Amino acid sequence: MPDAPTKSMEEIVSLCRRRGFIFQSSEIYGGINGFWDYGPLGTELKRNLKNAWWQDIVRNELIGPFGDPVQIVGLDSSIIMNPKVWVASGHVGGFNDPMVDCRESKARYRADHLMVLGAAEDGARLYAFIDNDTEQRAKAEKILLKYERREVLDAARHFVRAFTTLNADERARCVGPDAKEPGTLTEPRQFNLMFKTNVGAIEDPANAAYLRPETAQGIFANFDNVINSTRVRVPFGIAQIGKAFRNEVTPRNFTFRSREFEQMELEFFIRPDQAAQWYAWWRDQRFAWWQSIGLTSDNLQLREHDRDELAHYAKVGAGTSDIEYKFPFTSPGFGELEGVAHRGEFDLRQHAEHSGKNDKAKYFDQEKNERYFPHVIEPSAGADRGTLALLCEAYTKDESRPSGVFMKFHPRMAPVKAGIFPLVNKDGMPEIAERLHRELRKRHMCEYDPKQTIGKRYARMDEAGTPFCITIDSETLSAHTVTVRHRDTQLQEKMHIEAVSAWLDAQVG
Ligand code: ATP
Repeated sequence: MPDAPTKSMEEIVSLCRRRGFIFQSSEIYGGINGFWDYGPLGTELKRNLKNAWWQDIVRNELIGPFGDPVQIVGLDSSIIMNPKVWVASGHVGGFNDPMVDCRESKARYRADHLMVLGAAEDGARLYAFIDNDTEQRAKAEKILLKYERREVLDAARHFVRAFTTLNADERARCVGPDAKEPGTLTEPRQFNLMFKTNVGAIEDPANAAYLRPETAQGIFANFDNVINSTRVRVPFGIAQIGKAFRNEVTPRNFTFRSREFEQMELEFFIRPDQAAQWYAWWRDQRFAWWQSIGLTSDNLQLREHDRDELAHYAKVGAGTSDIEYKFPFTSPGFGELEGVAHRGEFDLRQHAEHSGKNDKAKYFDQEKNERYFPHVIEPSAGADRGTLALLCEAYTKDESRPSGVFMKFHPRMAPVKAGIFPLVNKDGMPEIAERLHRELRKRHMCEYDPKQTIGKRYARMDEAGTPFCITIDSETLSAHTVTVRHRDTQLQEKMHIEAVSAWLDAQVG
């Protein structure tokens, strides 16, 4: 049996809702599957993640694998683009996930996510479960054993296989993850994941357009505009953060698989002969970045793809890898946070061919006086999956605290950096605390809280993941010091009130 997950997703989801990190979208109308809203704390957390990415990718000077500063500029392209973009990118023809419907439960699953558990015996039943879903797998095991009147699984008798490998006879014997009867799962069928809409007043196929399923194509389509309007030269990157939409077959696992989500994508254009060095450099750079913002435990892993699982654009090339996090719902397995891929010249060439503007997608090297398609290294991350990983990583149980739990965010990611409290609401303490709050909030998200006992105020801040609480007490009146309480250790230190601002700047980056 796999190790039991140490953190329960139910508890994390419930804290997210209670404290205003994440709500179900349109909850008052019963919600809508695959869509989520970020509450006040969640909005700050996700914004901190996106700002850190932008700061570290676009604003900070990185030194590349050849010792030179790395040039990267930003872009904010439209969500709806000319539909020809999606023909060129391969999404209209190929953005299909084979899908399986269950006639009994009406649930729909991605065929490549379904596994089956069965017995190596003619005519025996097979039980389907969603890959990496430990609970569903355990349920399938239990039913199989009950059906066979056995106590334990026997490696010689039992097997686990991908649903896509079943023949028609085996499918007829297979019980779906949410079904009771066998044979209710359909054959896998193609399903396009793009949301379709109409542009203009008339609903006509000629006006059909798509909500972008990734931000990357807006970057490729603007390649020539960026070159012509700036001084960037290969090697250089274009970065974009924005919404993407996919009509996912089975949205699940909280925000992990949503139908509307945000991506943080970088397309980095290079000379083809430098692909191996840039690919390895970006892969390592990106892994180290996730560690730097708090995913430091062994819940984070870098996984190089096997060649047979590479996407169409990456069959040849320096490689593809995923940066993965061990979420409570994937444990002991991992789920993708970010993909780093050498996309070759695939996208620029496609746009050159489909737009008929060959020269616009090619790069002109002035020094060498030659035109070529640069290759692309693409680190493509999800802001929602990143936020979810930060939430899961931060969730720390501690029975000794009144809150029973605290959110151990990296100070740079924490939604609220400091809570500022007057110890009692008299003797001028509230006025000093409010003044300090006004000063600190100019640069950092801080919360002034004069209500309830100090213990209850600490507990609220622990659940919000606030790294520091600053209390104005009687010593502030006599010696101008404040008491700073550290979230993780619960230790307290005294500090001169005049020193707090610079100290907080240094702590939260
Ligand atoms: P998956 O295999 O999980 O469907 P993918 O390989 O299709 O993901 P990409 O197309 O590489 O994902 O997208 C880049 C990033 O966008 C992913 O690493 C992930 O963080 C994010 N992402 C993709 N699909 C979703 C989704 N449905 N919900 C939330 N984030 C997503």
